[in-house]
Amino acid sequence: MTLTNILNKVKTDIELNHDEIITLLEVTDPEEKTLIFSLAEALTLHHLGPEIHLRGLIEFSNYCVRQCNYCGLRHENYHLSRYRMTPEEIITTAEQIADLGLKTVVLQSGEDLWFTQEIIKEIILEIKKRTDLAITLSLGERRFTELEAWRKAGADRYLLKQETVNPKIFAEIKPDASYEKRFAILEQLQALGYQVGSGAMIALPGQSLADLANDLIFIRDQRIGMAGFGPFIPHEATPYGHLPGGSGEFSILLLAVARLVLKKVHLPATTALASLVPNGLYRAIQVGANVIMPNMTPLKYRKLYQIYPGKAVTSLEKVMETIHSLGRVVGHTQGDVLVSRICSNSGE
Ligand code: SAH
Repeated sequence: MTLTNILNKVKTDIELNHDEIITLLEVTDPEEKTLIFSLAEALTLHHLGPEIHLRGLIEFSNYCVRQCNYCGLRHENYHLSRYRMTPEEIITTAEQIADLGLKTVVLQSGEDLWFTQEIIKEIILEIKKRTDLAITLSLGERRFTELEAWRKAGADRYLLKQETVNPKIFAEIKPDASYEKRFAILEQLQALGYQVGSGAMIALPGQSLADLANDLIFIRDQRIGMAGFGPFIPHEATPYGHLPGGSGEFSILLLAVARLVLKKVHLPATTALASLVPNGLYRAIQVGANVIMPNMTPLKYRKLYQIYPGKAVTSLEKVMETIHSLGRVVGHTQGDVLVSRICSNSGE
């Protein structure tokens, strides 16, 4: 099928199949890319409007029990100084985020079991008491009872990237994790009534365009509400330090194709993309991103949250300027997801 036919299918709201998605991901001709980018932008405006939602990110602990081969926070990286913000520091940082007018806080960390069910629950309750922020958790794989308690305490959303839906690659990149378990947790989160985010890394070892097409189809078929796609960036203190990283230009194309396939799904301009592509935020918004997660981690900790090197530092002012220069506006609502799985046993 020709590119024009595929784009016409998108315009008439017919679902793309695996082969058609691969054809889009294979495009290298600049003019053809421009056609994809413009349609991605038009679809974003049509389905989601001009609003860009800002989510204030607090990276509150870089301790991690896991051994993910791609990630600088992996347990065996003994070169890294570890930090843990106190619950009070986390709560006051969330208050600052609310004072800046942002509507969502994202609490992210390595898998750090110091933060027990009770401690996280208290943090959620306190943030809800002191602010009107939506709360997104991104704490890795936690037990069902914990996820349930946090949802009951008021957590709204949970981010857990599958990283890849290819089970072989998953086993290679996350040697101490289970593909099935991670997938099962995503389903539990949906059943508990969380707004769920997932996604994948681009340019993992052995990953093909067919795999990436499957990653997109997975998000669509599972009715996941948010999806982050960012290039893999090698970190020298990991077993994957010597591998080639993802290409920024390809990651932009993948983001645009993600918009064509996923329509109403919230797509962030990932920090990994912003770190790799000059004017990455600007370009990401231009091709379909509608979420930005400004880093609000206190400065003294920020440089220690080294999941990969060269992480982009983008000030809130720069983010605002970028949004306005594209004629877009900052979302004034919590920016809830528009796609979810309606479950009879939802926690609502
Ligand atoms: N520990 C939590 C969340 C922290 S990491 C979890 O595992 O879910 C957040 C995201 O950063 C990961 O989901 C992964 O997609 C991305 N990431 C980690 N290491 C990376 C690297 N080297 N390059 C690019 N992205 C990376």
